[in-house]
Amino acid sequence: MNTLLLIILIIIVLEFLLELILDLLNLKARKQPIPTILSDVYPPDRYKQQQSYKVETTHFSLFQNSISTLAIALVLYFGLLGTLHGWLAEFNFGDIVTTLIFFAIVGFVGWITSLPFSVWGTFVIEEKYGFNKTTKRLFVVDSIKSLLISFIIGGGILAIVTWVYHLTQEWFWIIALGIMLVFSLLANALYSRVIVPLFNKQQPLQEGELLNAIKDFGQRIGFPVGKVFVIDGSKRSTKANAYFTGFGSNRRVVLYDTLIEKMSTEEIVAVLAHEVGHYRKHHIWINFGLGAVQSAIILYLFGWLAQSSALSIALGFESANEPVFHLSLLAFGLLFSPIETILGVFTNRLSRTMEYQADAFAAKHNQGKGLISGLKQLSAENLSNLTPHPMYVLVNYSHPTLLQRINRINGE
Ligand SMILES: [Zn+2]
Repeated sequence: MNTLLLIILIIIVLEFLLELILDLLNLKARKQPIPTILSDVYPPDRYKQQQSYKVETTHFSLFQNSISTLAIALVLYFGLLGTLHGWLAEFNFGDIVTTLIFFAIVGFVGWITSLPFSVWGTFVIEEKYGFNKTTKRLFVVDSIKSLLISFIIGGGILAIVTWVYHLTQEWFWIIALGIMLVFSLLANALYSRVIVPLFNKQQPLQEGELLNAIKDFGQRIGFPVGKVFVIDGSKRSTKANAYFTGFGSNRRVVLYDTLIEKMSTEEIVAVLAHEVGHYRKHHIWINFGLGAVQSAIILYLFGWLAQSSALSIALGFESANEPVFHLSLLAFGLLFSPIETILGVFTNRLSRTMEYQADAFAAKHNQGKGLISGLKQLSAENLSNLTPHPMYVLVNYSHPTLLQRINRINGE
């Protein structure tokens, strides 16, 4: 057996085991007593519901993971990706078109096989716990829209990147990096005007107590909040959220209608203060810069490894006498995933630090009390875990736990 393929298969199994261990630790941790300060988050029967929601979603994701790990391992073991490429290459479509068709087929197969899981997750599990508001019709329309968008945007970027790769291998990484950065800036600037309207309605927040309170707060801290929009999140789920998007004059605050329905004005202003904290501390740009550095390293390594046909051979295209771009890309992605997991631990850690900073910003502007009750409210509505395992938090949590955040806001 090909050594590189063996390494890839071992990586896949190890990643699966890591996830399994973390999930099991987390399930065990849920039996811990609730910390006193969090005792008012759930009424007792609601907490029982939270516990069974947690067990059910964990079992379900473990099941889905086992199936997909097994399927990917079999596809690799039998060299099916290489076979697919060999078959496509016979049509002589040219490099770029072959790459596009290859990824279209792989992407479509991935999408169709994950569809039953997504249907079950939405209409059986989320439904059972009262979160789901998506109708079957909306689900179908959403699925088709997302598929089309990923074909258009993903296909577009892929076509340009493939073209650059065949133009120059030496400068590939730096040009591809430039393309990705321009694209992600563009995506950020256009997200709420182009992508969101495809799925949701956004309306300016009506004049009234809430808008006045938000404007008041902005004035007090010398930060014009910009436009405030309400998005109809309730169309799909009862889960609530709020976020900031765009920059400069494009900046807008987006509040889920579910958030407005469930939280008091004081709590919403506090959640908003937290978001302003992210903005004031330049977290968007820090994330952007770090993402750029990470992409640069990944692209450089890829450009270097992709010069050898060993990656294409490992995926089953044994007659490769020169590297095949799309096979190299997939093999590289698989080989790189342990490094990605390790990097994820660091980026999640940084992200948790930023969350503390945003909380501290809100607390400094007298929103600590509202933020604590707002966070409790959000946790209860979303059936969040009050006692996750520390190892699980270390690897997977982009936000500190509710207990950690409250203790920090209270200055403990
Ligand atoms: Zn935050």
